Amino acid sequence: MPDEDSLPPLVHSPKTLPEALALLNAYPKAQLWAGGTASPEQDFGSPIRLPTTVVSLHLVEDLKRVQYGDRFVDLGAGMTLNQVLHVMKTFLNPALRQAILATGYTALRNLATLGGNLCQKGFFGDLFPVLHLIGAQFEFRGIRSSRWLTATQVSDEGRLTPLAGEILTRVRVPQEDWPHFFYQKIGNFRTPWDERLSMTALARTKHGLVEALRLIFYLPHTGLLRHRGLEAEFVGQRVPFAPRLRQEALKSIQEAMQGLSLPPSLFQKDRVLHMTRWVLSQIQDE
Ligand SMILES: Cc1cc2nc3c(=O)[nH]c(=O)nc-3n(C[C@H](O)[C@H](O)[C@H](O)COP(=O)(O)OP(=O)(O)OC[C@H]3O[C@@H](n4cnc5c(N)ncnc54)[C@H](O)[C@@H]3O)c2cc1C
Repeated sequence: MPDEDSLPPLVHSPKTLPEALALLNAYPKAQLWAGGTASPEQDFGSPIRLPTTVVSLHLVEDLKRVQYGDRFVDLGAGMTLNQVLHVMKTFLNPALRQAILATGYTALRNLATLGGNLCQKGFFGDLFPVLHLIGAQFEFRGIRSSRWLTATQVSDEGRLTPLAGEILTRVRVPQEDWPHFFYQKIGNFRTPWDERLSMTALARTKHGLVEALRLIFYLPHTGLLRHRGLEAEFVGQRVPFAPRLRQEALKSIQEAMQGLSLPPSLFQKDRVLHMTRWVLSQIQDE
């Protein structure tokens, strides 16, 4: 009997979602393959190694659709990151756009998909924190099942992980106007974990007062840092923010960092405070 690992890989390329789900059902150990740029088997610089059975999603048109609704847009999880950048400007949150542009480089974004970014094994991709802030929802489909998860449920679970036989099919992005948006990322895929982080902030003001403010940090090895209590405290506050309010906010963020299960590095702590200070100084009336 030949060793299973020595057999040539079997790659299935279904053209529809039902076909892809039927294949996953028939081959429970098969690995889903979207762009293949984050697949754990790859050792960059070496020839591509495929798992024994692969279900490739690259021909599944159902996963590349965009549906425009009145209050949301549904992005197919099989869309490449460059395809997402072509979504109508009014529907694509500008912070999400910036986060996509900060992911790899354009050739990579021609292959890399939204679903692959979100379902990376072991950690969130860089797009999840922005989608969390926007209030996105995630649809998983199985051969006889369908379920939606909110971004909060996903962050509570710590991962966006399909159950056996499931595929992430759509990401529902609510449509809200956020005239103030900020996205900053330090480090890239090759930077040590404790020197990487990103920040996203969204805010809306009216007649000099804050209507809504949201702020999230992503420290890849530690997780997400979002302080909803602090966000609520800013509602109704006058802009530009008083120095006392900004100081109190920094203190709250510092305390929230202490509450994280894995402590951030000194570098990350310093950058988080610096970015918070910077964002709060940037929010003015429209
Ligand atoms: C040079 C380089 C730079 C990179 N820079 C970044 C970066 O800045 N930020 C970042 O976040 N990532 C980065 N990546 C990682 C990766 O390229 C991206 O996250 C990309 O979006 C992954 O998408 P993919 O389609 O290639 O995923 P794949 O490799 O095809 O899949 C990744 C995982 O998701 C699963 N999967 C894929 N699609 C689905 C689906 N629809 N349903 C369920 N499971 C699914 C796969 O089974 C696999 O386990 C980089 C990679 C490289 C090589």
